[in-house]
Amino acid sequence: MNDITKIDWQTEASRLTLRGEAFIDGKRVPSLSGVAFDCINPATGGLLTKVAACDAADVDRAVKSARAAFDDGRWSGKSPAERKAVMLRLADLIRANLTELALLDSLDMGKLVNDAATVDVPGSAAIFQWYGEAIDKLYDEIAPTEPGNLAMIRREPLGVVGAVIPWNFPLDMATWKCAPALAVGNSVVLKPAEQSPLSALRLAELAIEAGLPEGVLNVVPGFGEVTGKALGLHPDVDCITFTGSTEVGKMFLTYSGQSNMKQVWLECGGKSPNLIFADCENLDAAADMAAFGIFFNQGEVCSANSRLYVEKSIAEVFLAKLVERVGRYTPGNPLDPTATMGAIVDENQTRRIMGFIDEGRKTARLVAGGERVSVDGKGCFVQPTIFVDVGHNDRLMREEIFGPVLAVSTFETEDEAVALANDTIYGLAASVWTANLSRAHRLSAKLKAGTVSVNTVDALSPMTPFGGFKQSGIGRDLSLHAFDKFSGLKTVWIRY
Ligand code: NAD
Repeated sequence: MNDITKIDWQTEASRLTLRGEAFIDGKRVPSLSGVAFDCINPATGGLLTKVAACDAADVDRAVKSARAAFDDGRWSGKSPAERKAVMLRLADLIRANLTELALLDSLDMGKLVNDAATVDVPGSAAIFQWYGEAIDKLYDEIAPTEPGNLAMIRREPLGVVGAVIPWNFPLDMATWKCAPALAVGNSVVLKPAEQSPLSALRLAELAIEAGLPEGVLNVVPGFGEVTGKALGLHPDVDCITFTGSTEVGKMFLTYSGQSNMKQVWLECGGKSPNLIFADCENLDAAADMAAFGIFFNQGEVCSANSRLYVEKSIAEVFLAKLVERVGRYTPGNPLDPTATMGAIVDENQTRRIMGFIDEGRKTARLVAGGERVSVDGKGCFVQPTIFVDVGHNDRLMREEIFGPVLAVSTFETEDEAVALANDTIYGLAASVWTANLSRAHRLSAKLKAGTVSVNTVDALSPMTPFGGFKQSGIGRDLSLHAFDKFSGLKTVWIRY
């Protein structure tokens, strides 16, 4: 993408037709109430378009469409090879529409268009391709039984999957849910975050173009406490797959209990520790990745390495290296390919982050950033910020900020490092930097996190499961294990 300039991106953006209607039963439709909400570009404060505010009646319409599609087998009844062909075409269409999709996410929630174009959109295409390619290679099982019996263990789609997603990686989060759910034959009702609905709506159009039958993928934009809640409480939704905050994740467990006991899979918050040991072989690489781990995507990453613990004997040297790298992340116009950090998703989140920073100034030592800034006189931007000497019980160290704010502290022994790292309600990710192979294995076992990265941060691929222990969630996205969420096991026993 190196040859595309800011002017090119701005020209492309000005040519876009932004559409905010819902997508139900294969068509763009306004909300039944006619109510729409403002979709704002956080980098400029400007109105992008009006988006349908779906309520319980719209959700019901979408669920009915998804149920009808599931029951008549127009997708669930297709062979794995037929579903694969559609998913591969969708992957190609995502690639063919890269510029538009990258712009939609960038304009909607402020991320760098360059990141969207090189990370998010190719990632989405790769995941549709991966699940498409996987689906005709899954075999069912035959159980060992007495002669005269045949016991088959079959994997079947659940029916209607409700997917509720956050705004930090809008297209990718939609993909992580839809690709495996659709691959096994489910119908989906997707609710994007109110801050970032545009790419999910476009994805549904592309899916139809790829050959996905009408009604199989519906998108209902709207507010969490209305649209998300209606999906969570709907009696004909078989499963909810959610990514978002721990607080809202718990609500979905309640909605399930209050309605039809639908399965609930949760990818929730994190406060992931990054442990730098004095025997780390390459402190420069560790400093590069520590900065990347908290400042990439403006720190709006669930598995961001937001707690850094460094061994006391190297703390001074390491911190100097880290602070040096802060300059690599300067808030700029998200449509400028030379910018290194984008806008925060909205005014509320910007104020929330600044609240943490203002409180942090009273309890810890600020060594970088700390200010809200504007770009071209506008927008929601926060400098990359580092606090050191952060107390273990300070809010900076305990709560998920979901912004470019790093809390740093020190440790003296391995046991202390593990104890500090694990003393959190979360368990999404952890990183360890050491050249000591035994220590790497010891810590990988002891750290309570869904992913432990050794000598890197936040290691992630379609081939490996992603998700958390403790209050970071239930279940895993990505890899073949994601199929476990979207299919049920059926035993069929035949005596002969
Ligand atoms: P959020 O929980 O506020 O919202 C997530 C989704 O839930 C949105 O679509 C929202 O509209 C909906 N929602 C909000 N309130 C609701 C309610 N009362 N009932 C039903 N639905 C409701 O989270 P967010 O601010 O959009 O995203 C940030 C959070 O997402 C962070 O906590 C982050 O860690 C988490 N996240 C986790 C992962 C992961 O894989 N574990 C990935 C990305 C983000």
